[in-house]
Amino acid sequence: MIAPLVDLLRDRRTVVLAGAGCSTESGIPDYRGPEGRLRTRTPVRYGEFVRSEANRRRYWARSAVGWRRVSDARPNPAHHGLAALEAAGFVGGVITQNVDGLHHRAGSRVVIELHGSLADVVCLDCGDRISRAEMQTRLEYENRGWLERYRHRPADAGGREPQAAPDGDAELPEGAYESFRVPGCRICGGVLKPDVVFFGENVPRDRVDACWALLDAADVLLVVGSSLTVYSGRRFVYGAAERRVPIAVLNLGETRADEYAAVKVEGKAGELVPRLAEALGAAC
Ligand code: NAD
Ligand code: ZN
Repeated sequence: MIAPLVDLLRDRRTVVLAGAGCSTESGIPDYRGPEGRLRTRTPVRYGEFVRSEANRRRYWARSAVGWRRVSDARPNPAHHGLAALEAAGFVGGVITQNVDGLHHRAGSRVVIELHGSLADVVCLDCGDRISRAEMQTRLEYENRGWLERYRHRPADAGGREPQAAPDGDAELPEGAYESFRVPGCRICGGVLKPDVVFFGENVPRDRVDACWALLDAADVLLVVGSSLTVYSGRRFVYGAAERRVPIAVLNLGETRADEYAAVKVEGKAGELVPRLAEALGAAC
């Protein structure tokens, strides 16, 4: 099943465009699963976050509860396989839409985190940066009693643990947020935001340019685990098509690149990427 993909990638330099499907096998949910369903939640938009203190409380409360799932996540064989393909010279770099840092942790070197990283927090007022780990310490300190209550409390009447959501946050009952305290910037008291690109926000220009440079140096674009519903990633498919760079897709379910794909492989990234690496002689 992967033979046509192996043939396409052999003797060529590939740029990978990765998405949430790379990390589902590490326990981080995606947005749109194989049935193409969109989860019911709507992530906070940039404007809503900046304008409303109540929205920031909601964001940070959910993030405080859900963060451990992301910080505890480990790279899976898909991440390791991509790192091995890079080390062996087949992959020139990874453009990832993921914000979980797992490509770096697997050993990939050339990684552009298109939508930023959950690991960093930035002050919107003075630009000061702190790690998300430090933010978590501050969130937990400021909200000791609150976290005791909601971390172990059922998120719904069914008595389940709070359900993890894709952006490293968790579902909480409405009303849980009101008593939550959000720490301000340690320097200026300003608004702290995770250094990820929210919906309604643009990817920084130099970051997009760096992606185009990777694509310009590539002979193949390989999409791994992304529905490509979000335009900021999908644009590189259009760019590859314009440049007549062949496009390959490895995904569970449909993607917006399928109609452009020279090769489409349907399946789990954690199984197929290591097989691809092995077939090309890149040891994982
Ligand atoms: P998406 O959820 O829209 O699409 C994921 C795709 O991967 C789906 O087609 C799904 O069927 C497929 N998939 C799921 N598990 C797979 C597996 N094991 N192997 C192969 N394919 C699998 O994700 P997207 O296209 O990356 O867009 C989501 C947006 O949300 C991005 O912009 C991203 O910033 C953000 N996001 C990030 C994370 C993360 O950092 N891990 C998680 C969720 C969402
Ligand atoms: Zn500040």
